[in-house]
Amino acid sequence: MTVEGTVIVGAGPAGLACAAALKANGCPSLILERADSLGSSWRRHYERLRLHTAKAHSALPGMPMPRNFPRYPSRLQVIDYLEAYAHANDIGIRFGKSVVLIRRERDWVAETDDGDTFAAETVIVATGLSNVPVRPVWGGQATFTGALLHSSEYKNAKALGAGPVLVIGFGNSAGEIALDCAEAGLDVGMSVRGPVNIVPLEMFGVPTATIAIAQRHLPYRLVDALNGPFLRLRYHDMGRMGLSKSANGPLADIAEKGRTPLIDIGTIAQIRAAEIAIYPGIETSEGKRVRFVDGRSSDFDTIILATGYRPSLETILFDCAERFHGADRPGRGELQPGNDGLYFCGFNTASTGLLRQIGIEATAIAKSIAGR
Ligand SMILES: Cc1cc2nc3c(=O)[nH]c(=O)nc-3n(C[C@H](O)[C@H](O)[C@H](O)COP(=O)(O)OP(=O)(O)OC[C@H]3O[C@@H](n4cnc5c(N)ncnc54)[C@H](O)[C@@H]3O)c2cc1C
Repeated sequence: MTVEGTVIVGAGPAGLACAAALKANGCPSLILERADSLGSSWRRHYERLRLHTAKAHSALPGMPMPRNFPRYPSRLQVIDYLEAYAHANDIGIRFGKSVVLIRRERDWVAETDDGDTFAAETVIVATGLSNVPVRPVWGGQATFTGALLHSSEYKNAKALGAGPVLVIGFGNSAGEIALDCAEAGLDVGMSVRGPVNIVPLEMFGVPTATIAIAQRHLPYRLVDALNGPFLRLRYHDMGRMGLSKSANGPLADIAEKGRTPLIDIGTIAQIRAAEIAIYPGIETSEGKRVRFVDGRSSDFDTIILATGYRPSLETILFDCAERFHGADRPGRGELQPGNDGLYFCGFNTASTGLLRQIGIEATAIAKSIAGR
């Protein structure tokens, strides 16, 4: 079928923000969503998840989060908000439409796995940074006899057995899942392969992402230098915890490596209290016995791979490498790489919060499409 205006792929925050921003500019659109509901990644996330960015800076364009939401809304509140946002903006979504290929004829054409085609003048890809779980493999992993799951499959600590748990990674999911397990009384370890950055959820009562917004016009290395003494004071004992500090500050790691710091919502206190043990990378495992690169070894009943996701745009785009200059996603600030009516929203992490960044990008994309 031919769609009037724009086809948007994905009904997460980015797709919904783009549809609403287009509507505000008088431009029609249709969202194609592979799941049977909007905000599907938020429905899947672990139960205790709350936003770590303040609600005031996490809303999508044109609709603040409700006054009765707390500063850091829960996962279910985020879903309620997304539902209300789609309803208020009368956003058109076709569910159960998994786009398998985006190609160019006279118009752009999105092909879905059930053989449908949707042709439109412009297409916005809003399939998310967190599309496909990254699952590292180590020698002997296949012999592991416990439960091996990715963080995307973790719901709560109750669903695990009583035995020891190893969480691999030191991102925000890793930190929060390890905390969840420790608070449930489980014996928890974290396997941390390389140097890391840690920032508190709040500094002097102000959300860290909100401080990053206030500092956003300063060079990121200067901001890292300004915040450095406070962070060093707060996390002076990283070495004693078994962690090593990244040579870069948190903002430089985000800007140059796309690597977000651990936003500490209580994990560090549990590490200091030895309720969470820190191990280095895994060398090998045999049965439930995991051997680490420093020669230590221990038995685990559950291993949780909190090792992130990849956008996997190459599975739906024929010219990813050329379009992204050899990368697997658009560069920072590149909303329409190729300048040919194919747009991308939500593919670059931001110290100021990705939801806020999505709103900014959606607004800019809608303006660009309206001006075509
Ligand atoms: C655990 C976690 C916590 C986070 N917390 C915060 C936070 O506190 N603050 C913040 O600012 N950001 C946070 N983020 C980052 C970010 O804001 C969210 O990931 C947000 O959901 C990104 O929105 P999105 O629309 O880009 O992607 P998603 O929410 O992943 O939505 C993408 C949608 O596209 C659909 N889709 C994918 N492929 C196809 C296809 N081929 N065809 C059709 N549909 C498809 C998916 O089903 C999904 O519904 C968090 C991320 C994670 C993983």
